[in-house]
Amino acid sequence: MTASIAERLQRVQERIRAAAEACGRDAGSVRLVAVTKTFGPDALREAVAAGATDIGENYIQEAREKFDALGALPVRRHFIGHLQSNKAKHAVALFDLIHTVDSVKLGRELDRCARRSGKRQAVLVQVNVAGESSKSGVAPDEALPLVHELAALEHLSVAGLMTMPPFFNDPERVRPFFSALRQLRDRIQAKAPAGISLRELSMGMTGDFEAAIAEGATLVRIGTAIFGERS
Ligand SMILES: *Cc1c(COP(=O)(O)O)cnc(C)c1O
Repeated sequence: MTASIAERLQRVQERIRAAAEACGRDAGSVRLVAVTKTFGPDALREAVAAGATDIGENYIQEAREKFDALGALPVRRHFIGHLQSNKAKHAVALFDLIHTVDSVKLGRELDRCARRSGKRQAVLVQVNVAGESSKSGVAPDEALPLVHELAALEHLSVAGLMTMPPFFNDPERVRPFFSALRQLRDRIQAKAPAGISLRELSMGMTGDFEAAIAEGATLVRIGTAIFGERS
């Protein structure tokens, strides 16, 4: 018997609560982003009915088709995939929080689109903590200047940092990268322009979210543990 989405979601929520409590954090300070890429509208609807408040998508076109099929749903929508400037307009139209800003050029384009649609777009800066050539994100050294550039854009609101660390089977080996992102956030916050609050740390997936919570994650992005393996 395979568990239903509702059962798996509940189990993940319990694990999040336990991980937060184990390190003395309020469970309410960690938000679960249910990652729905490759799964259809029915899976998404089922997760929302079971209590998912936040969903994450990686591809603009796929998200657009799914959101159209679903109509109005009471969820916060997160974009967690790689974003090209020429898709900025769609990202602004579809998403409450964009986790993956990694250039001034993209930031400026998002700002321009947000201005046109009368919106203030919340964004995170994606950091490539391990300097892997296969991954997007700015180098840790470039994060502070980028935060400054983005903070100056009137229609963007920079809310924190996101990372995709290297993959290891053992979450304890990933943990130093989560710790590095938190420390980077603290250093940038200390030098950030007035009014900027980098409260969000988007880090942790199915294999390592408990370690991420121990290191201060506020947004964990979880797909497989809720929806099963992606084909
Ligand atoms: C797919 C994806 C996830 C979810 O990964 P799981 O291991 O299935 O939980 C999280 N973050 C990003 C950026 C992703 O692309």
